[in-house]
Amino acid sequence: MSNVRTAIVIGGGIAGPVTAIALHKAGIEANVFEAYPRQGEGIGGALSLEANGLAALGVIGAGDAVRAVAIPITRSVMTVGNRSLEIPGLEGLMPRHVIERSDLHRVLTERARAVGVRFDHGKRLVGAEQDKAGVTARFTDGTTARADVLIGADGVRSIVRTLIDPAAPGAAFTGLLGFGATVDAGLDLEPGTMTFAFGRRAYYLYWPTPDGRTAWGVNLPATKPLTLTEARAVPAERWLDTLRATYADDAPGAELARCTTPETLQVVGALHIMPPVPRWHRGRMVLVGDAVHAPSNSTGQGASLAIESAVQLARCLRDLPDAGSAFAAYEALRRRRVESIARRGARINHSKAPGRVARFVMPLALPLLFKMMDLEKTMGPEQRYVIDWDAPVQGSDQVHASAA
Ligand SMILES: Cc1cc2nc3c(=O)[nH]c(=O)nc-3n(C[C@H](O)[C@H](O)[C@H](O)COP(=O)(O)OP(=O)(O)OC[C@H]3O[C@@H](n4cnc5c(N)ncnc54)[C@H](O)[C@@H]3O)c2cc1C
Repeated sequence: MSNVRTAIVIGGGIAGPVTAIALHKAGIEANVFEAYPRQGEGIGGALSLEANGLAALGVIGAGDAVRAVAIPITRSVMTVGNRSLEIPGLEGLMPRHVIERSDLHRVLTERARAVGVRFDHGKRLVGAEQDKAGVTARFTDGTTARADVLIGADGVRSIVRTLIDPAAPGAAFTGLLGFGATVDAGLDLEPGTMTFAFGRRAYYLYWPTPDGRTAWGVNLPATKPLTLTEARAVPAERWLDTLRATYADDAPGAELARCTTPETLQVVGALHIMPPVPRWHRGRMVLVGDAVHAPSNSTGQGASLAIESAVQLARCLRDLPDAGSAFAAYEALRRRRVESIARRGARINHSKAPGRVARFVMPLALPLLFKMMDLEKTMGPEQRYVIDWDAPVQGSDQVHASAA
């Protein structure tokens, strides 16, 4: 039985609400403090949840509600120029689901509120002090909050990370800016099919929405890692000019860019990955989600891993006697898994804008590669990961040996 009874969760994105719900299930009271003044403000674009992330959502009772507002993707296709090839998938798994980020936030926040989690918006953490009895969080508005532990679910630019370790690495820019839109392009696409398209100058992906429109996501190569605020300060018309020039020679990229309007364009900003973080916790403070393990968006695993970690952290706090042993067990359970997925993502990321030779070779080599690949061995451990909520967590020595 843990001596941790209360938690401050910094960040009301994805990991934050999931952590708070899972802590509640573990008998620990959690309040979420979010920097944005209102729920769902400033978020846009879609993200996908893999079978492992959906399974973890099931643990906190949010799986059905999330799937109800998401689109199941039952088939994946890769295109290079005008050549198209089927991407094989694992058998017997829940399909990938794609969901608007704002819908995911809404569902998770509703679920958290339903179990009694309190959200305080407009609370930007600036500092924290810990002592023998607890930890005090300080916010920019001069207010404070106190609890037994403080959990940093504050995303890729985490301040909690530097409070834990002032020498912690920062996020690395992938060289890509993210955009998204759902448009009326009149495309006749097969329902449930997601296409990953290597265009002439840049990568993009698209899928049909149930109302007959097409959603697309853009990875635009860029030299400067514009923040969300900086990217949104650029007039949408200028971004559209850039997107139309970038995808001018691609089908259906050119059409998707043409049909995107300033009103439908969602600017996401620079895409980042986190290098390995040496310290995941210190004293009463710990990290979860993108704050400690943001893989490249090309893995499709960022949100799923954030959800898994949130649930595992709550299990550790439930079963181990104090914050220190719970955090050590949590890191031992999670580090190897998230770092191995991040390494896979870093490799894919480099190939997002293939050169001329690669564009010629890829359609010939990839079918062979897919045929030779032991999918179960490469993707099975990633996507078949299921958390046994009821199983008691052991101390860190034992869990390290069994971490996936
Ligand atoms: C374009 C794009 C596409 C993506 N596609 C996918 C995908 O297909 N599949 C996938 O799994 N993942 C995807 N991801 C990654 C996914 O969005 C992240 O992994 C996920 O959002 C991580 O959740 P989080 O809660 O850790 O962080 P976030 O969602 O970033 O939430 C952090 C929260 O903390 C708040 N905050 C920050 N600082 C403070 C502070 N000082 N005080 C209080 N609050 C603070 C922020 O306002 C924010 O609400 C994508 C990301 C991008 C950018």
